Amino acid sequence: MSVAKLEDFGEWYTQLVQRAELADIRYNVKGFVVFRPWAVRMMNKMFQLFEKELEEKGHQPTLFPALIPESNFRLESEHVEGFLPEVFWVTEAGGSSEKLEERLALRPTSETAMYRMYALWVRSWRDLPLKLYQRGQVWRYEGKATRPFIRGREFYWIEAHNAFGTEEEALAQVKEDMGITEKIVHGDLGIPLLFFQRPEHDKFAGAVHTYAADTLMPDGRVLQLPSTHLLGQNFSKPFGIAFLDQRGDERHVWQTCYGPAISRLMAAVISIHGDDKGLVLPPKIAPVQVIIVPILTQKAEKDVLEACAQVKNVLKSSGILAEVDDRREYTPGWKFNEWELRGVPLRVEVGPRDLRENRVILVRRDTGEKTPVERADVASQTREALDRIQANLATRADEAMRRGTRTATDYADLKETLNGNGGFVRIAWCGREDCAKEIQEETSGGVIRGTLVEGDENVGSTCVHCGRKASQTVYVSKQY
Ligand code: ZN
Repeated sequence: MSVAKLEDFGEWYTQLVQRAELADIRYNVKGFVVFRPWAVRMMNKMFQLFEKELEEKGHQPTLFPALIPESNFRLESEHVEGFLPEVFWVTEAGGSSEKLEERLALRPTSETAMYRMYALWVRSWRDLPLKLYQRGQVWRYEGKATRPFIRGREFYWIEAHNAFGTEEEALAQVKEDMGITEKIVHGDLGIPLLFFQRPEHDKFAGAVHTYAADTLMPDGRVLQLPSTHLLGQNFSKPFGIAFLDQRGDERHVWQTCYGPAISRLMAAVISIHGDDKGLVLPPKIAPVQVIIVPILTQKAEKDVLEACAQVKNVLKSSGILAEVDDRREYTPGWKFNEWELRGVPLRVEVGPRDLRENRVILVRRDTGEKTPVERADVASQTREALDRIQANLATRADEAMRRGTRTATDYADLKETLNGNGGFVRIAWCGREDCAKEIQEETSGGVIRGTLVEGDENVGSTCVHCGRKASQTVYVSKQY
């Protein structure tokens, strides 16, 4: 890496994505990138974490078509208004480019595909709740500059879509989604987050309420992570998703949807944990948790390689993802750099002297700390070191986000903070959309993220911008 992360974050990110072979931006459709094996192996692990959790909570997997007829798409008016500017349309097909009778949208999100079928499937109260999820891509014709994992015209996610007999159950689902997000994003990926209820003017198109997690990137701008939406009956009415309740009355279902974007989570992991040597991966999603590097001399070559293979087998049999890098064309020093760049959490070095002393050396990626370990203890010591790395990454990231969050009691302070180090800035706010727009324009991009879902903060009684009575405490920040 030729730049330091904190000196030029943008350039650091670009270099790291390329050098750690995460994505290749040279594919020849604008805004579309190729994700490479090292990244996809991590993304698969993230998918599995979410899918396991969703299935444990009663969701079932499904796969819906990528194409949505325009007639479905136009059924809910706010939804269509919000998404129309971002839709790619399929309008013709076949060798002679025959025009299709109806244009087909490449799904930008799947409500209008899935709910058409929900209307056929839901008949009585016995069919509820209906909780389905799918993994896949969506396509959005983004106007903003694209960057691998952060924003693209194609991205990978899971979307869960649920239907209930009552509003209470729908609200409970939204809370459950926030719990899943906290458990995986914070617990497994070590990414700190704050859940906001988005302001009225910034919710998902067609939703009653939007709850979205935000994290803070190292340059002081926020990145939106998974969001969950209370849809109420906004879709069930136009789509005709109705059921007969236990008394025989027909009622419309209450709905929610949840969308953890895996590409975005990759961006957060790369940016928040990475350092000037490259990626630093949380053990829970590292494709390789331990890389074993033999230090070879001619005399001891065979013994060292045998010891490496033995260590690998011991680690593997205790469920640790370990590999030996026994390539002869590279020096140990080259390999150290390579695996540091790729973020492997732990390195095990085995040399002739270690053999004589019946030990190996553990080297932590997050701290660089080296520890000699008895060969007999290698599995337990490795497991312990991986747990410590996992915890340390989360603690470091939590502290950085705490440092990046502050309160502004007047407008000058807000402007100065946003244009300086950035971060989350708490303010008292009036709740008016025109006031939010002025703040955004005058601070070159400070966006109201919403009110914190947990906790009732009160940092003032008048809006820091317009001086009207404040109705809420909100967080403002510049965003990706
Ligand atoms: Zn105001």
